[in-house]
Amino acid sequence: MAAQTVASTTNSTPTANPAADSVDLGPAAALSCRECGHRVPLGPVFACEECFGPLEIAYDFSGYDTEELRKRIESGPANIWRYAPLLPVPADVAGKPNINPGWTKLVKADNLARELGVDAGKLFVKDDSGNPTHSFKDRVVAQALEAARAFGFTTLSCSSTGNLAGAVGAAAARAGLRSCVFIPHDLEQGKVVMAAVYGGELVGIEGNYDDVNRFCSELIGDPAGEGWGFVNVNLRPYYAEGSKTLAYEICEQLGWQLPDQLVVPIASGSQLTKIDKGLKELIALGLVEDRPYKIFGAQAEGCSPVSVAYKAGHDVVRPQKPNTIAKSLAIGNPADGPYVLDIARRTGGAVEDVNDEQVVDAIKLLARTEGIFAETAGGVTVGVAKKLIENGLLDPHLTTVVLNTGDGLKTLDAVASDTGLTATIRPSLDSFREAGLGQ
Ligand SMILES: *Cc1c(COP(=O)(O)O)cnc(C)c1O
Ligand SMILES: [Zn+2]
Repeated sequence: MAAQTVASTTNSTPTANPAADSVDLGPAAALSCRECGHRVPLGPVFACEECFGPLEIAYDFSGYDTEELRKRIESGPANIWRYAPLLPVPADVAGKPNINPGWTKLVKADNLARELGVDAGKLFVKDDSGNPTHSFKDRVVAQALEAARAFGFTTLSCSSTGNLAGAVGAAAARAGLRSCVFIPHDLEQGKVVMAAVYGGELVGIEGNYDDVNRFCSELIGDPAGEGWGFVNVNLRPYYAEGSKTLAYEICEQLGWQLPDQLVVPIASGSQLTKIDKGLKELIALGLVEDRPYKIFGAQAEGCSPVSVAYKAGHDVVRPQKPNTIAKSLAIGNPADGPYVLDIARRTGGAVEDVNDEQVVDAIKLLARTEGIFAETAGGVTVGVAKKLIENGLLDPHLTTVVLNTGDGLKTLDAVASDTGLTATIRPSLDSFREAGLGQ
């Protein structure tokens, strides 16, 4: 069977352009405006010249045969490059120096299911703490790195809430590029160390993430930032595609089946929108059966602009000043917020938030039941899943995948005051018995 062409790529043919001939980004055909559909050739641009809407990658998948594609994927490497035919990267990408993220575990979480009242065998945790720099950000940076190479950038940069800084530092180190990344000056120590250790430049900005982001936008327009690829700004269309690999892996690991329900964290909202894009592509390509799925968004109450808009029935997202322990999700003005609202409503999902205490409880719940130590973002998704089951919005009888996007070792402070030694004893059996620890 011949694969269908993905709908969003068929509105018009890509504009011919000399620059587009000189970059090899595999099946990526053009950049397409998410608002008005206007197309421009592949390049380091991120906003539509017609309407200032965000650009995303449009593909030409028309030559793919479903069964050949499935075989090619299944015989590919155990990392995101098995999906290279569906990503904006050259065909030979697997041979280049790269930190090769992905193919993380999909853990069947029966113990957690029991605690949450979900049917046995129906609950899964997609554990992205298993990536090279211990968060899902390696997936998106890997795509941005290929775009940076294609466009001839020599410095890799970003604005980061922490995890992205580490992912950019590591990717640049391995690729032999300079990196200079910008973070809020008051991040968790674990994230600062994780970002700095790769030897790139790390700059703390006196302000929150939204201030850091604004500063980076200024730098892009200034000669001081010339030749710099900002993975989440001028390379954002390429970067964002990396999140599709989460959708691909989840479906392949379920035996080429769509899950019924997914619980996804929201920072800028990019990951959630691209998981939806990835699922739609698999359906269009015939790799999974076409049936409904629901996407649920998860935020922390202290930074819940999308959840607040969802519950109020609004289409626009009013910015907030973040105040939560879930710092990796603390984006008060999420660029993809309106698209997240669309997806939650279109698929029949929802957007929900939990407070910091519930985040900590959920981190401990996941650790105690499944042996997975999540960072605060994982506490947010597990906490929101629990709340959605209690609300009756998440069906406990359907296949559900909850994302853990980062490693608890990066946010030790969140649980440090809540955990510790069971007892301190002298090195003697008497002391051991006195503490009531024996059989
Ligand atoms: C960046 C990040 C996300 C999602 O970010 P989006 O901006 O919504 O794509 C989720 N979890 C963790 C741990 C992150 O670092
Ligand atoms: Zn436009």
